[in-house]
Amino acid sequence: MWKYQALIVSLASTAALAAVDISKFPSKTDPTHFTIPSIPQTTSHDVATECQYYQSNFTVDKTQWPTVWDIATSNNMNTSAEFMSVYNAIDWTKAPTAPVRKLTAAGGLNLTGYDTVNDPDCWWSASQCVKPKASGVNPDIYACPEPETWGLTFDDGPNCSHNAFYDYLETNKQRASMFYIGSNVLNWPYGALRGLKDGHHLCGHTWSHRMMTTLSNQEVLAELYYTAKAIKYVTGVTPLHWRPALGDLDDRVRWIASQLNMTAILWNLDTDDWAAGSTPGITADTVNQRYKDFIQMGSNGTYKDSGNIVLSHEINNMTMDFFVNHYPDIKKNYKHVTDVATCMNIAHPYLEKVITFPSFDASVNSNAGTATGSGVIPGASSAPSSGNSVTPYTNFYNGPLFIAALFGLLLVAV
Ligand SMILES: [Zn+2]
Repeated sequence: MWKYQALIVSLASTAALAAVDISKFPSKTDPTHFTIPSIPQTTSHDVATECQYYQSNFTVDKTQWPTVWDIATSNNMNTSAEFMSVYNAIDWTKAPTAPVRKLTAAGGLNLTGYDTVNDPDCWWSASQCVKPKASGVNPDIYACPEPETWGLTFDDGPNCSHNAFYDYLETNKQRASMFYIGSNVLNWPYGALRGLKDGHHLCGHTWSHRMMTTLSNQEVLAELYYTAKAIKYVTGVTPLHWRPALGDLDDRVRWIASQLNMTAILWNLDTDDWAAGSTPGITADTVNQRYKDFIQMGSNGTYKDSGNIVLSHEINNMTMDFFVNHYPDIKKNYKHVTDVATCMNIAHPYLEKVITFPSFDASVNSNAGTATGSGVIPGASSAPSSGNSVTPYTNFYNGPLFIAALFGLLLVAV
């Protein structure tokens, strides 16, 4: 186990170098004792009706936050005293000089002119590089080191009322790493609380889900900062891990995240579950086949020496059902299915040390034969609604209708 212990030391020493102390975020949640009010559930798969709005107990002072789903410097956050103190605490002369990337007319990343062979900026979108070349940068996590282990991750939550999905995970004593979008956390705070209550590994997933390398230094910092603040405000814990939308990061973005103590978690297997039916060439059959291929890799020797991290999504019933339908076979073909903090032996994935994750060995030994162990339970109580999961939106990538619907809800919410 030496290599894992060494990794923990390495992460701890890197974290100590962070420029910004974000532990002072306000929160009214004690992460070890809280309750979650009951929220409505529906069984609909119809995008127009499956999301049920609920009024939460969390009040949001709009002057303290970016506009939801807009770049996190919006609503004058970039000139606020709070944000400027964070920005000015960073020695920007040390930042890597990678340029701000451009988008193509079609909305993709413009790689024109980038040296993809030498990949000077370790730009994942260009080369899938995960080993930074700049100094002072936390290295990415992209695969569980433990053999025959499926690293379980879900992006883009929390959402309206996904209690049925969380119930399913809880029933199976299954923990995952949950990558929450800051705007979603403010909109659907009880979903984030449910994730905390069940001992999932909560991580940031930016404020507005933009391509991070296309944002300025200030915008990147704001996307990370306000997402961490939202998670802390709602759950009482500050995440130390994050994932860039579509994996788009380079050493400039990594360096800025490192100033906030944050380490990126990527993946090495992608289900493309979100794209089924909405992206040419990707159908439900495509995604099911991906799952089957990945499942087979658990028993054909592919992961005899180390494990994976699989990208999947919480977005809606479609994406959640893909996982639920394949989960029994995942467990049959892999020795372990675990969140990333556990497989990486990260005992404290939050700035606050009030919650301790078990080591991988303790997790496995405390619950032999099942996916994950115990040891994380934050001691919370809750009263989640029963019923089936609901899907608020068709997916994140369907553009204006989705955004318009969201803002419609927000006018009521905040
Ligand atoms: Zn995402």
